[in-house]
Amino acid sequence: MDDRIWNLIRPEVRALESYRVGIPPHRIKLNQNESSIELPDSIKEEIVERLRVVPWSRYPRQARSELGAALREALDLPEEIEIVTGNGSNELIQALFATVLGPGEKIVVPVPTFLLYRQFAAILGAEVVDVLLDADLGYDAERIIEAIGRTEAKAVVFARPNNPTGTSIRIEAVERLLENADALVVVDEAYGEFADDTVLTLLPRYANLVVLRTFSKAFRSAGLRIGYLLAHSVLTEQVVKVLPPFNTGIVSCEAALSIVRHRALLRPGLEQTLAERDRMVEALEGIRGITPVPSEANFICFRTEKPPRSVFDRLLDRGILVRDISGYPLLADCLRVSVGTSDENRTFVTALEEIMEER
Ligand code: PMP
Repeated sequence: MDDRIWNLIRPEVRALESYRVGIPPHRIKLNQNESSIELPDSIKEEIVERLRVVPWSRYPRQARSELGAALREALDLPEEIEIVTGNGSNELIQALFATVLGPGEKIVVPVPTFLLYRQFAAILGAEVVDVLLDADLGYDAERIIEAIGRTEAKAVVFARPNNPTGTSIRIEAVERLLENADALVVVDEAYGEFADDTVLTLLPRYANLVVLRTFSKAFRSAGLRIGYLLAHSVLTEQVVKVLPPFNTGIVSCEAALSIVRHRALLRPGLEQTLAERDRMVEALEGIRGITPVPSEANFICFRTEKPPRSVFDRLLDRGILVRDISGYPLLADCLRVSVGTSDENRTFVTALEEIMEER
């Protein structure tokens, strides 16, 4: 019977490895680029109050359109740009790919990057065309444009800032892609709030630009599962057909609505994270055998002269969980650490210092 079931599964799916992040026991969690700072209680209380009064018995409608309107206002979006909300930005990436990519069709992916792009493309039977970042983990727009042209790719996707490197493609380079590549340019700004600039400003001018954002990082709500996609209506109208109806429920929509309305309360936490990140980069630069990569996000990729897996294990012995990214191309000597609270970061830096001193 098992064989029979196995044979029913599409080969594309059978060949995949499950995207599950193993979470061993730990004291300090710095492995998933979440916020270590919780939402303010005042926001949580307002959310609970709102949930008491909205009907739970009906399919969500109101909350979702109010959320769209609140986001539109917060981002000062021009009329021609549409917003689609999703169950985390992951769901939107999946729906977008399913809208555009068929079996055998190509998508260009500058690597190393977020693994789900490859996963979602593979499920559709689409082909990923890798373009390696430069040795310093920077982007070469000309090589990306060349790869799109050569393979007749329908899309290119990258995170800006990029996970797991923390580096970013320059906005002028994104514009060159938008002008010169005959393809959809998908920019995942999951970490966009931590960066100095955003491609949102380019949206009105380019119908081939799609931007993805999330409440999981700077908005401290990874547990809620809320993301949004921004593009011209020619695209969003089609993505909406691919998404399940009522994909975002009242809990996440009402919560997101309160968070957007009170976003000014999140500003100090964001500033703190940026200051902590810069302090951490400086501290890492002072540790012998460690070289941090300059980061524009809420995490830091760093090279270690000791084997990364053993450094990961020694950190975990002390209860500190980071991410081993040494299996990614160009990152064989790297680990990634999320920026936590000042206490968490200090504990991490001290532990790493001790581990690097050990013989
Ligand atoms: N994009 C990138 C580049 C990410 O690193 C992550 C989080 N790991 C996501 C998207 C996922 O976002 P969400 O929680 O909104 O699904």
